[in-house]
Amino acid sequence: MLSSSYSKEIQTVQAALSEAALLCRSVQDRVSVTKGDRSPVTIADFGSQALICRSLREAFPDDPIIAEEDSALLQTQTELREILGKYLEKIRPGTSLRNALKWIDYGNAETYSDRFWTLDPIDGTKGFLRKGHFAIALALINEGNVAVAGLACPNLNQNIFLAAKGWGARQGESLIQVSTDATIRHARICESVESSHSAHGDMQRVVEHLGITASPVRLDSQTKYAVVARGDAEIYMRLPTRKDYVERIWDHAAGAFLLTEAGGKVTDCTGKELDFSCGEGLENNHGIIATNGRVHEEVIEALKTLNIGQTTS
Ligand code: AMP
Ligand code: MG
Repeated sequence: MLSSSYSKEIQTVQAALSEAALLCRSVQDRVSVTKGDRSPVTIADFGSQALICRSLREAFPDDPIIAEEDSALLQTQTELREILGKYLEKIRPGTSLRNALKWIDYGNAETYSDRFWTLDPIDGTKGFLRKGHFAIALALINEGNVAVAGLACPNLNQNIFLAAKGWGARQGESLIQVSTDATIRHARICESVESSHSAHGDMQRVVEHLGITASPVRLDSQTKYAVVARGDAEIYMRLPTRKDYVERIWDHAAGAFLLTEAGGKVTDCTGKELDFSCGEGLENNHGIIATNGRVHEEVIEALKTLNIGQTTS
């Protein structure tokens, strides 16, 4: 392994993701409850967040963590809480429920500093529930830029992807690179399974406009970024379904950085770089275009011509 000034961060991320992936794989109860925003959450979401926040707090006690979940729902759901305790006990014997709830809430930092972590304990919960793809996504943001990222994709051959500034993007021990194919007609595209997360109809218009022959492949979670980063596809597009939706940083920080370090390019639909300096939301961006870099400009031109995702309000 090449050395990096972020060695401790990389090792901590790798160990934390492995432990959380083990928990997610062991959770057989695909029971979900519905959150206030009507999205589902499972025991595995809470367990993954508890374990990762605990590891981060131990290694980097001063770093705030901005994570997707909090313990409020568990306070009222006794059964869910008890099942969570059972799974955590298997992975970390002696874990008390009180501690587990405390660890989950380490992820709700209210004050930001120049350096903080962002975590999606299970990205693509719907994929997890349907036994499709999901990811555990963790990134360190330093002065507005991602510096270290880890993405565990348990259903993509249990792979863990890691990236750090100046250290490249890796799948396990191996460096990965984007594909060098620059012919737009041959591009392989991926998009969300959920039509409420990315406009499938607009995607079809782009595909036809560019003369792309293969149909988009639908995958849940930031696994889509990993697939482009390792050269198995050229494009991941997330075309807005609503003008007012603001993407969450934990849905993109790890994946977008992994892809950039693998030689790819990530912008919004207007071609603007993602701005991770606005707190929890990508307030200055609209939609996501992630490519191998070679076909990026052609895709952005097509979106302009078709007037897709060009407004930021
Ligand atoms: P995916 O697996 O690519 O479909 O993305 C899953 C993520 O989509 C979830 O973690 C949500 O945070 C996010 N999401 C929820 N609603 C929307 C929306 N209207 N547009 C885009 N993303 C959304
Ligand atoms: Mg998510």
